[in-house]
Amino acid sequence: MQHWHAMAPSQVTEQIAVDPAAGLSETEAAERLQRHGPNRPSAPPGRSVLARFMDQLIQPLVLVLLIAGTVTALLGEWIDAGVIFGVVLINALVGFIQEGKAEAALAALTRAVATEATVLRAGNRRRLDAAELVPGDVVVLASGDKVPADLRLLSSKELQTGEAALTGESLPVQKTVATLAQETVLAERANMAYAGTLVLSGQGIGVTVATGNATETGRISQLIAAAPSLMTPMTRKLADFAQRLLIIILLLAGVTFVVGVLRGESAFAMFMAAVALAVGAIPEGLPAAMTVTLAIGVARMARRRAIIRKLPAVETLGGTTVICSDKTGTLTENAMTVREIWAGGERFVVSGQGYAPSGDIRRDDLPAETSGALRETLLAGVLCNDARLVREGHHWDIVGDPTEAALLVAAQKGGLDPATLQRVLTREDELPFDANRQYMATFNQIEGAAIVHVKGALERLLPACRATLDRHGRERQLDLESVQDAAARMTEAGLRVLALARSALSPGQTLAHDHLTHDLVFLGLIGMIDPPRPHAVAAVRTCHAAGIRVKMITGDHPGTALAIARQLGIAHDHARALTGRELAELDEAELGRVAADTDVFARVEPEQKLRLVKALQANGEVVAMTGDGVNDAPALKQADIGVAMGLGGTDVAKEAADMVLTDDNFATIEAAVEEGRGVYDNLVKFITWTIPTNGGEGLVILAAILAGTTLPITPLQILWINMTTAILLGMMLAFEPTERGIMQRPPRPPTAPLLDRMLLRRIVLVSLLLLAGTFGLFELMLSQGRTLAEARTVATNLFVLVETFYLFNCRSLYRPFWRCGWFNNPWVWVGSAAMLALQLAFTYLPAFQQVFHSAAINAQDWLHIVLFGLFCLLLVEIDKRWQPKSAAR
Ligand code: ATP
Repeated sequence: MQHWHAMAPSQVTEQIAVDPAAGLSETEAAERLQRHGPNRPSAPPGRSVLARFMDQLIQPLVLVLLIAGTVTALLGEWIDAGVIFGVVLINALVGFIQEGKAEAALAALTRAVATEATVLRAGNRRRLDAAELVPGDVVVLASGDKVPADLRLLSSKELQTGEAALTGESLPVQKTVATLAQETVLAERANMAYAGTLVLSGQGIGVTVATGNATETGRISQLIAAAPSLMTPMTRKLADFAQRLLIIILLLAGVTFVVGVLRGESAFAMFMAAVALAVGAIPEGLPAAMTVTLAIGVARMARRRAIIRKLPAVETLGGTTVICSDKTGTLTENAMTVREIWAGGERFVVSGQGYAPSGDIRRDDLPAETSGALRETLLAGVLCNDARLVREGHHWDIVGDPTEAALLVAAQKGGLDPATLQRVLTREDELPFDANRQYMATFNQIEGAAIVHVKGALERLLPACRATLDRHGRERQLDLESVQDAAARMTEAGLRVLALARSALSPGQTLAHDHLTHDLVFLGLIGMIDPPRPHAVAAVRTCHAAGIRVKMITGDHPGTALAIARQLGIAHDHARALTGRELAELDEAELGRVAADTDVFARVEPEQKLRLVKALQANGEVVAMTGDGVNDAPALKQADIGVAMGLGGTDVAKEAADMVLTDDNFATIEAAVEEGRGVYDNLVKFITWTIPTNGGEGLVILAAILAGTTLPITPLQILWINMTTAILLGMMLAFEPTERGIMQRPPRPPTAPLLDRMLLRRIVLVSLLLLAGTFGLFELMLSQGRTLAEARTVATNLFVLVETFYLFNCRSLYRPFWRCGWFNNPWVWVGSAAMLALQLAFTYLPAFQQVFHSAAINAQDWLHIVLFGLFCLLLVEIDKRWQPKSAAR
């Protein structure tokens, strides 16, 4: 093994055969890719199929069944034992397949959020999929990146990484390039950046020394099988509930056994009855149905461009009460066009749309000459700029920040040639844009002078300005008021305003933030439009109808933020914006109060988002919060749903988030909330369906034994009902589409119980109907002199049919079933048809008759069954209507 950290950079690049100034050539990279394979850890070996299958068997309920089956077999009842083992096997198989599918789908989604890397190849910087990296690639790291492979650093500009995932170190680690002693331990190798760690600040360049499984992280992930957890708060709660239920039911089963035996029944018959009671009453389909419902929800959200990274988010999303969203790029298009320039005391209007440089700059409706303050403003915008315009046929595209690209377009409209200017006036140094400082500065040599250009938020730059330029480019005294008036006019019109300024460095001085706090010369203001996204207005309206408040949290100016918020319907005409500075002066209690009533937060620093989230949560809100930068990560973690941007977001933000939007669009959050509500609804629907089914089965046996009458359904028949209906009927509710009008309901209060009073009443009603119907028809048959087998067949069929009808009731919890759309969930029909076919087999096929002791029944019997089923169907519908007005949905 190589000790890269103990080698000098030149030794490393020599050994690994790469020119650090140019990177690898494309052919060399392709060849190395062949040799080393793609840069992604191969899937961990995972647990064996057998081990995963055994997991399905080692569950309390299954163990009860296995013991019962073994005892039955020992008693020589081969058919019964066979059926019990059959049930266990089929149940385990269904669970195994479904959970496997859900796990695979989740794992695939996690991979869907791909990491990109900036790489030097053949002398050019390129962005490529991190999987294409090979040893020898020279990688450029920037704040917010995830380190794509193990790198030996060649340069570090205040580079700090977060290595908690690898070494457990929670504080940022400062990186250097100095060669270290060979025995330096992993956590202290400051000249290495390891795959999977995160760049928290600064910049760096490193040469790739290991990729894929050869990286330190790759080696570790080979050791731990990283199956995504399928548990969520609700599944955990239900699992606990099921455990407790199991104990109660086992006790009841014990009582049944004892009472029956004391009554003089045979111990064997009573043992089987106790087992049937246990099996019937425990909702064993619940965990699998929950997993499937959640997995379907995740897939539906992915189709609507929201990638769920943490499964519990699917549940929480549905209960969201507040969405805090960025403005730029999420609520707006982030497609900037400069509309106005204010320089030398004059207002200029820029024509044209988008990034095509067709249009011009006018003053008082006449083409303006690009000179004096106007020219200096445009020049500053060109030099203090990292974006590029790319022409593709008739279409213009941009690389980099849209705000900066818009400045290039405006300069071109004013007759400047940005590409040439940037090439000729070489950049010596820069201070990159940072959302906290809200400006960016560059230092260029211009005609022998060292000139610094700054662009950023007006409030940050103006206090540092001592002079300005007039229309001819001569320095003049600064009239603060006129600048502020001009800026206010622009922001009120919804324009995003950038201020530009410059200063000179004395020989030998290097660029530092300290130079930008005084002695700047103000050049001008540039106002650009960034139109609201077309779907955002509708999405905001939908959120409001759904009782969800939308709050805009932006780094932009309060005037601009308010104007856009009004266009989007987030703020009303007289609303105020709260600024970051005001926010900083509030204590927690005041903040809680103010946060509840304010919809627009402007000039907010990323760190303040965390306080806001906490304040809203303290008010009892369930908060979804968007973010894209490194500094947003704490707020994303704290929020109930942290939402990161897939296109414009940093890897650090994505890593911290619960959900990633692949289109960065606000409307996608609204869509995800809608799906989240649908998932929750479907879970409740399944529970509402399954509990009476289990309750009914348990009650039938319990009642028969306690009353000392013949069992209307044999234990074996209970097993049959239980297994077939859970799979063919209940599971189909997972495929229910979200109900119409789901976004017109208020959000579910976080403390609300899973089942409200109405649903509990319905569960009791249906359980009693099943009990009464089964016993009633069974006794009726016997009183008419029919055989026991026939009476039991009728009872079993009745049970299944009522459950089938009830399945249709459960397609909507509060609305009539005929309003659900007859065919928008074909699976309920498929399941019901299959169930009916199985019941016909159960009733008429000799093989089934032999196993289950069933017998053929006649048309009149079926008529009784169907009539009772319809009666139940209608009764539940009447029950739905009988609800307090306030709960009507
Ligand atoms: P949001 O927070 O809603 O995404 P935003 O993009 O306006 O909105 P920031 O990126 O934090 O928020 O920008 C805050 C301010 O910093 C802007 O209003 C602008 O004045 C300034 N600014 C933005 N981009 C640049 C840049 N590339 N160079 C210099 N200053 C910038």
